[in-house]
Amino acid sequence: METLSHDIIIIGAGIAGLRAAIAAAQFNKIDVAVVSKVYPVRSHSVCAQGGTGAVLRDGDSFDLHAWDTVKGSDFLADQDVVELFVRRAPQEIVALDHWGCPWSRTEDGKINQRRFGGHSFPRACFAADMTGFHEMHVLDGKAKTFDNVKFYDEWFVVSLLVKDKTVAGLTAIDIKTGEMCALRAKAVVMATGGHERIYGFTTFSHTATGDGMTIAYRVGAQLKDMEFIQFHPTGLVPPGVLITEGARGEGGYLLNSKGERFMKRYAPERMELAPRDIIARAEMTEILEGRGLEGPYGHYIALDIRHLGEEKINERLPLIRDVAIKLGGIDPVKEPIPIRPAAHYSMGGIHANIKTETPISGLYAVGECSCMSLHGANRLGTNSTSDCLVFGAIGGEEAAKHAMSKSLIELPNDQVLSSEKRVFDEILGSEGDERVATIRDEMRAIMNDKVWIFRTGDGLMSALKGVKELRERFGKITVDDKSRQFNTGLIGALQLDFTLDLAEVTITSALARTESRGAHSRRDYTKRDDENWLKHTLAYCTKEGPRLEYAPVTIAKWPPTARTY
Ligand SMILES: Cc1cc2nc3c(=O)[nH]c(=O)nc-3n(C[C@H](O)[C@H](O)[C@H](O)COP(=O)(O)OP(=O)(O)OC[C@H]3O[C@@H](n4cnc5c(N)ncnc54)[C@H](O)[C@@H]3O)c2cc1C
Repeated sequence: METLSHDIIIIGAGIAGLRAAIAAAQFNKIDVAVVSKVYPVRSHSVCAQGGTGAVLRDGDSFDLHAWDTVKGSDFLADQDVVELFVRRAPQEIVALDHWGCPWSRTEDGKINQRRFGGHSFPRACFAADMTGFHEMHVLDGKAKTFDNVKFYDEWFVVSLLVKDKTVAGLTAIDIKTGEMCALRAKAVVMATGGHERIYGFTTFSHTATGDGMTIAYRVGAQLKDMEFIQFHPTGLVPPGVLITEGARGEGGYLLNSKGERFMKRYAPERMELAPRDIIARAEMTEILEGRGLEGPYGHYIALDIRHLGEEKINERLPLIRDVAIKLGGIDPVKEPIPIRPAAHYSMGGIHANIKTETPISGLYAVGECSCMSLHGANRLGTNSTSDCLVFGAIGGEEAAKHAMSKSLIELPNDQVLSSEKRVFDEILGSEGDERVATIRDEMRAIMNDKVWIFRTGDGLMSALKGVKELRERFGKITVDDKSRQFNTGLIGALQLDFTLDLAEVTITSALARTESRGAHSRRDYTKRDDENWLKHTLAYCTKEGPRLEYAPVTIAKWPPTARTY
């Protein structure tokens, strides 16, 4: 097997990975590699629509952004992390501006900002409703100006190689040839995004299978707060594709079957701009109590933006108009958009500290795959892309500093061999009668039915049993295509392997947390319980399944209070 070496390897080329690559590359000409299973601008970040949050204007303040984030998080965010985040976010907006991001502007030429849920001030910087698309192209272009950054596009990372709790490198498959390589590095930055594809109805790309979370978990990094999955209030029916919160930020209404703006009963002050957990629960309650609309694809809620007028819709929300016409069959200029909540974000992820360091020396985690914890039990819209920028930059710098002070360590050859055996003998070589797609769809159905917005102990227990059975059945799969070159069947099987672990950790963490906080809502424990549960969940990988421990929350300025909007 070929062995390659770099000072730093960044796994993932979304906003977080590319921002880390730029920060690391600017550091003393250090040798940086970026490995991505898809071509960089196909990373999910390119789909980000509504905006990137940062304080830019008089009238807004770091304290206000921090307070909104902490309250939005239902007090589970670590407040030192929040403080650092809000202070660094504006620099990132300006950096993107200098690198060529075509931000939407005000009449007098300033970067425009729109309203978003849970934010007390319009602080979402946007480029129409294609913010991620523009940010990604700017970052990709910038990263490619450095001759000390090498891209491994369409390489699939399979495992981390770790010796004495220190990173030695990783194994990856070059998807084009199907050959496995070992890559050595002094530092590795995990930037592999979320795991929303454990669910069936989601706003995320098919690539969001949480690979990096499982890869890190299996070598001893903890997964933190995995019970907290965000459900976005406006997934287009039927495909689940996102209709940005920017539609409500620009003034859109949510209506039930009686034509009522029902949010007045759930968040009378903020209405359609309350945080996502509250609106998603309100929509589900309307549907469950018989006030949803009915269509060929089941119950839904109406998102009405007709009153904004065609001109404004075309200027501010061109993408979602196009998406609604092509994938929903309706023109939002003329009709309300059919929507319902869809799995949208993973507040949990690889346990990392404020410097993005994980407990494994030389391993850093940034972006959606990480949890440090900025978003606590519920993330505010626009805080993810800014999280990716701020902590991507910090992770790149920290990894570079680490790499400067260390030498490559010897590769643990036994781990390289067992990685190869796992992929080619146990998975590609398996000759059972189970289908990858069947197990995958059954997992998603379990998650949709039993680990959705409202949860119960019985439902979670039954989900856990179901996922464990699927794990057993995974041992008997067959991948029909036995060839090596561009074997998407094999990649699908490897992704399913990763997601099964993540489904198990998500359910186990949710079952243990006997309270309702942020996006985790238990029918059998309906109240937030600060006395027993103001703490982070940490899941450790063991042969018997996840073992849970807990860690304290950093409270600096704001002790928990009632959360009303
Ligand atoms: C439709 C949509 C709209 C959104 N809108 C907004 C918004 O307006 N504002 C906001 O703040 N947030 C928004 N979000 C959330 C935000 O876009 C994401 O949380 C964020 O972009 C994640 O970025 P990332 O860099 O962490 O990961 P991603 O962009 O998901 O990138 C992951 C990278 O990891 C690589 N990778 C994964 N596994 C492997 C592997 N095994 N081997 C090699 N490479 C691997 C992939 O190739 C990819 O390059 C939106 C999300 C969606 C889905």
